[in-house]
Amino acid sequence: MQSYIGRFAPSPSGPLHFGSLICALVSFLHARQANGAWLVRIEDVDTTRVKAGADQTILSQLQAHGMQWDGETLYQTARNKAYQHALDTLREKQLVYACSCTRQEIKSKGKYYTGTCRDRELPFEGNAIRLINNCTDSSFIDLHLGNVEVDPSFCSEDICIKRKDGLFAYNLAVVLDDIAQKVSHVVRGADLIDTTIQQQQIYRLLGEKAPKYFHLPAICIEHGRKLSKQNHAAPIQNNQASVNLICALKIIGLSTDTLDENMPVDGLIQWAIENWSPNLLAKRREILFSGINTV
Ligand code: GLU
Repeated sequence: MQSYIGRFAPSPSGPLHFGSLICALVSFLHARQANGAWLVRIEDVDTTRVKAGADQTILSQLQAHGMQWDGETLYQTARNKAYQHALDTLREKQLVYACSCTRQEIKSKGKYYTGTCRDRELPFEGNAIRLINNCTDSSFIDLHLGNVEVDPSFCSEDICIKRKDGLFAYNLAVVLDDIAQKVSHVVRGADLIDTTIQQQQIYRLLGEKAPKYFHLPAICIEHGRKLSKQNHAAPIQNNQASVNLICALKIIGLSTDTLDENMPVDGLIQWAIENWSPNLLAKRREILFSGINTV
């Protein structure tokens, strides 16, 4: 059995931008340096956010930037049966309940959900489904950032695993997929760091072992604002792959003076596998970025 299985799990809500390229690159390098497998999973569980064709664009961007994944690409939309099966199992164990609270109702009571519907015995049909969460942990050890503290009220919030609109929630899908794909290392942006505790709790309730987590700094345009499709981050261009890679390698801590833009992508990637180390990467949750030409 392969001991290291990593993955990159983009949501196909648009093409890769510079922030997601860096995320892919760090997860790729981390896996390849461990002689591990590197999988790509298209996280299209939230079909309301899917942009037609974005999955293919993302895959072509990864390939153009020298990041070839192993095996088949898994799509979350092909996994609804597995998600439902897990939900049914949790229901049999009486670990879930239906919740009719709207976002506004939750907000009016505080920052996080406070268990309002726990004892209401609402019908499952037409309501959100929440997992009873008695988690008392509010910290975990991250491979990169060390001890991470998370707001205890968030950690013990009953976790939404199926939305009112019938779509399975990200936290459930990501855990079930990582289990199914035997992922050993989750390397992803620190913007998702808090969700780790809730995901670890889902592993516990399912009786499964959680993977190791490595959170890299999110690439931000200003403090608290990550470069994202929502703020119209420019898609990375395949015909600029070497330039993009050199810039990305600088950001993740490498000294790139010996590299130049005319070098082929495969050579750059090989060089990065040989030279990068997680120790070079800033141990922070954010890196500020104002454009490729300013790095
Ligand atoms: N699909 C998530 C995203 O694109 C990543 C989830 C994960 O890596 O756990 O932000």
